[in-house]
Amino acid sequence: MVKKVDYAVGVDLGGTNIATGIVNSAGKVILREKAPTLAGLGHKEVLKNICNIILSLLSKAEPQVRKRIIGIGIGAPGLVDHKTGIIREPPNLPGMNGINLKKYIENRFKKKTFIANDANAYAVGEHTFGAGRGTKNMVCITLGTGLGGGIIIGGKLYVGSFQTAGELGHIVIRKEGRPCLCGNTGCVETYVGANNIAERVRKEIKHGKRSIILELVGGDLSLITPLILLQAAKLNDKYARSVWNEIGKDVGTVLVNIANTVGPEMIVVGGGVSKAGEYLFKPMLKEFNKREFKYIRNKIKIVQGELLDDAGVLGASSLVWNHV
Ligand SMILES: [Zn+2]
Repeated sequence: MVKKVDYAVGVDLGGTNIATGIVNSAGKVILREKAPTLAGLGHKEVLKNICNIILSLLSKAEPQVRKRIIGIGIGAPGLVDHKTGIIREPPNLPGMNGINLKKYIENRFKKKTFIANDANAYAVGEHTFGAGRGTKNMVCITLGTGLGGGIIIGGKLYVGSFQTAGELGHIVIRKEGRPCLCGNTGCVETYVGANNIAERVRKEIKHGKRSIILELVGGDLSLITPLILLQAAKLNDKYARSVWNEIGKDVGTVLVNIANTVGPEMIVVGGGVSKAGEYLFKPMLKEFNKREFKYIRNKIKIVQGELLDDAGVLGASSLVWNHV
């Protein structure tokens, strides 16, 4: 007997790229497509690009797949009202502020459309298809350009009274710390966001910190990324290891704040920067255990995310299965 399989379109709207895919109900991406967002050209152009890439994806799908697409899910940056569909204050897509993307896509494609903040979508994705399967209360953080978060309570995405809950990257870890794009100072993402890590390393090497990193980038400091920092750590570079150590401690501190607020059974740590694996996890867990109540620290599972390169698309598509 052939099992009936439904499909969903997942759209991961980023400041640089739009990634899309057709995903089946088992969480397998069967077709994918990517295109530049071209955010600098204004919101009309961005909307056109989103439509074009969905159209192109649909045109490549087999007719029997196309027929069984039950909806479109979108993960978008900023404060996203998933009920109305309006995007607010997207940090890297300022032109999309106030746009009702859900309505726009729904009208254009005549398909039920679901939308959430991208990190919220990722959390729903890990809960549906990844590390958080079967958990009741879990929190997801994603370490990328910034630090995104998503909270699942009672098996459902928790967005709070104003659809804004889960902005975990803006948990303050240093009261008088670095200025953040949100207007606050000392937010954790200003220390552990990929660009901030790169910027910090660049500055410190420029000011004379000795590290193999300079050699790895052939003297071109603009090429420094968290991945280069990881490479250096793997080569036993003392400076690189000390930076990962600090990043891990900062993330660990935030995990304590999250655990004490939400009390989840699991915290999933994903995103590009989490690829650092033990270089991040070891100091992170050490700091968590140092600061957390003994009773709690022995109960909460802290694990690496399971959705890897397709995380954005899988997360977005999971909004459809969950009717977020
Ligand atoms: Zn902030």
